[in-house]
Amino acid sequence: MNLKPEALVFEISAPGRLAVSLPKGDTPSYPVPANLARAELRLPELDELTVVRHFTRLSQKNFSIDTDFYPLGSCTMKYNPKVNEVTAGLAGFRNTHPLVGEEFSQGALELVYRLQAMLAEIGGFKAVSLQPAAGAHGELAGVFMIRAWHLSRGDTKRTRILIPDSAHGTNPASCTMAGLETLTIPSNAEGGVDMDALKAALAGEAGKEVAGIMITNPNTLGLFERNIEEIARLVHEAGGLVYGDGANMNALTGVFKPGLSGIDVMHFNLHKTFSTPHGGGGPGSGMVAAGDTLAAFLPGPVAGMKGGKYRLELPAKTIGRMKSFYGNFGVLVRAYTYIRMLGPEGLRRVAENAVLNANYLRVQVEKDFPVKYPRACMHEFVAMGDIAEGIHTLDIAKRLIDYGIHPPTIYFPLIVSEALMVEPTETESKAVLDEFVRVMHEIAEEAKHNPELLHSAPTTTPIGRLDEVAAARSPVLCYRG
Ligand SMILES: *Cc1c(COP(=O)(O)O)cnc(C)c1O
Repeated sequence: MNLKPEALVFEISAPGRLAVSLPKGDTPSYPVPANLARAELRLPELDELTVVRHFTRLSQKNFSIDTDFYPLGSCTMKYNPKVNEVTAGLAGFRNTHPLVGEEFSQGALELVYRLQAMLAEIGGFKAVSLQPAAGAHGELAGVFMIRAWHLSRGDTKRTRILIPDSAHGTNPASCTMAGLETLTIPSNAEGGVDMDALKAALAGEAGKEVAGIMITNPNTLGLFERNIEEIARLVHEAGGLVYGDGANMNALTGVFKPGLSGIDVMHFNLHKTFSTPHGGGGPGSGMVAAGDTLAAFLPGPVAGMKGGKYRLELPAKTIGRMKSFYGNFGVLVRAYTYIRMLGPEGLRRVAENAVLNANYLRVQVEKDFPVKYPRACMHEFVAMGDIAEGIHTLDIAKRLIDYGIHPPTIYFPLIVSEALMVEPTETESKAVLDEFVRVMHEIAEEAKHNPELLHSAPTTTPIGRLDEVAAARSPVLCYRG
């Protein structure tokens, strides 16, 4: 029997060992239908204690925000107060089921109803649907809504969405999934949308095929799009609508309402800004908010109220369901708790601190790692890692692991070569930020004087530097005992 810490469950499996002891059944048993029974399926056999040790060991190998600094750009890996987990786990919320019906779901529906109103207020929108389960899912909903609006007016020609090259990668993917084509709009020297290119795309016959624009603001360079109102005006004038990617609301809450800048529909990532941990594959929420033009097209059902009772309603021209029931409910309870705990003042401080922390890092990290667009940033900034002969961003990222810091997002956005995208988030202290600056400076010195150290990093992890090309070209995706 193999008890070494790195052992896989299959290697510590032994015939006849059991992890469960089920109570004696009080219902008749039925054989598993032949078409579902897979005799060749070799499931590991383990006792309970071994299973506990195995998974506890694995969990300790995870890098997490609860143990270390995690400045992963665009992902908002911030600390989420544990009280949100407490409320999400309250029996009345946790044990309810959508099929118990409206009469017995008044509390849950009230929470959904109030959360819709709070998020509409925060974003400056008319109405909100909490259905979509992720940011990209919200984007898909929004593109469907834009398309449905054009079709409702008998305009079938509009099949193209404009996307700035500083947008998040999910934007073009969502358009393609919705059956629309995309046209990239380049950035200008300041990192904003090139207005001449935008005007050209909207002009003449081609402009009549534009369904709208999808714009990430702040964009993936961490920069605020200063021309947002003018962009919206031009697109509207050409007959299109404006989709706003609002995944980065932690840079804006309480300071800027995107809905008042001409954006017609936008998703927020509740699992970034509003306190559900991001990443790890858990449930999320990419709720969509809409202004006057598109509110009636929101996915449904949404929570409404009639005669003093909460109920589920469908918006008048809804695109339909994006998901079963009304979204990932536990995520909604966390967001509700988070917003109520902070209040308007607290939400404003979130944005102020997110922006302050990012700029505090930017001006110091910039001394060693140049920033392509060196103007005041929002919640994140993009530096470049090729600071010495033979040194690449990948080397910097791997070396950070040795210092106990999660690497920033690398090689994204694509418009910055050797990109290092740093998002400190609003929840880190000055002490942590100072330590990051110190480590980045030390790595910059190593890059110049001891580049081998960086090429061989990471050295402190169970597995060292991987062959990333081989991993991408011929991945090993299943256990081969
Ligand atoms: C994270 C993110 C998304 C996608 O959100 P998912 O929940 O991962 O689908 C979209 N746009 C931006 C700007 C993001 O940061």
